[in-house]
Amino acid sequence: MLKGTLPPRNISYKRLFKNKTSLSILVFSLLFVMFSIYLITHNISYKNSIASNHGSDNTSIDENHVGSENILKKDPSNVDKSTLQNERSFNNSNLITDNRGVPVLYYHSVREPAENEVTITPENLRIQLEYIKNQGYTTLTLDELKNYLLNNSPIPEKSIVITFDDGYMDNYYNAFPILKNLNMVATIFCITSDLDGSYYLSKEAIKEMSDYGIDIESHTVSHPKLNQLPYDKQLNELKESKETLESITGKKVEAVAYPFGDFNDDSVIAAKNSGYTLAFTTKRGLSDRDDNILKLDRIYISSKYDINTFKEVLAQTKK
Ligand SMILES: [Zn+2]
Repeated sequence: MLKGTLPPRNISYKRLFKNKTSLSILVFSLLFVMFSIYLITHNISYKNSIASNHGSDNTSIDENHVGSENILKKDPSNVDKSTLQNERSFNNSNLITDNRGVPVLYYHSVREPAENEVTITPENLRIQLEYIKNQGYTTLTLDELKNYLLNNSPIPEKSIVITFDDGYMDNYYNAFPILKNLNMVATIFCITSDLDGSYYLSKEAIKEMSDYGIDIESHTVSHPKLNQLPYDKQLNELKESKETLESITGKKVEAVAYPFGDFNDDSVIAAKNSGYTLAFTTKRGLSDRDDNILKLDRIYISSKYDINTFKEVLAQTKK
């Protein structure tokens, strides 16, 4: 029985129950009203939840789960990056957890004219990314890749990571609009020595892309061949670039791409001691659990590849 319907003790039960019928009606009505209120509020909450999920992008969360305080809505900075990404639901995807690996593509500059092998035209980049999209691939963040590799977290069967090395300003002008248009995420590994917005990215462009959901990660301060430096200098390159990028984005930088793909045992130790959890090489292959997490394979995409070569490289790179 509900607490609120109990009568005070000093009232005679005989008198109160004189008219049993009217008491029953009263109790029943009360229960009915409470049940109706429950139904109405629950239904509204459910509808909001559906609407929120339909409008979801890669970092959407169901705000109704935090109830009436709505803490997350008021202050998104309260939300941990990894929490957001753990909430991502891979709708309509065939999820896998086995060690079949993920292709991690790497590009560099994106502009016209494409006068060298590491500069792809915006048009060719768009054609390749559209192909990826049409093939049903889901672009992963590096947190999602990390959780798949380290924690066996499920990912879509067709998962891919798109990365850009060096952090050229043209990535902001030419690649970012294409990524947004196709609703894809990507990672940019930035050289931090000269973030002035002419050749390399500006701090403002980095911040804007990071806020959107592009992963901003490190490619060292000055792009040296790490394996030719003593340990201490390697450590400086890795630490300083990490701190610079973290101060711009306000997010943790946990991944590095070794410049030229050159590294030695000291680089791996220095990366670990600087707080990186993932490091990428230029060795061709899928990133999988057979790789050392600080020596992950990637797939180079030359601007000389036509779309058929691109398709072959993507299809034929195996674990
Ligand atoms: Zn580079």
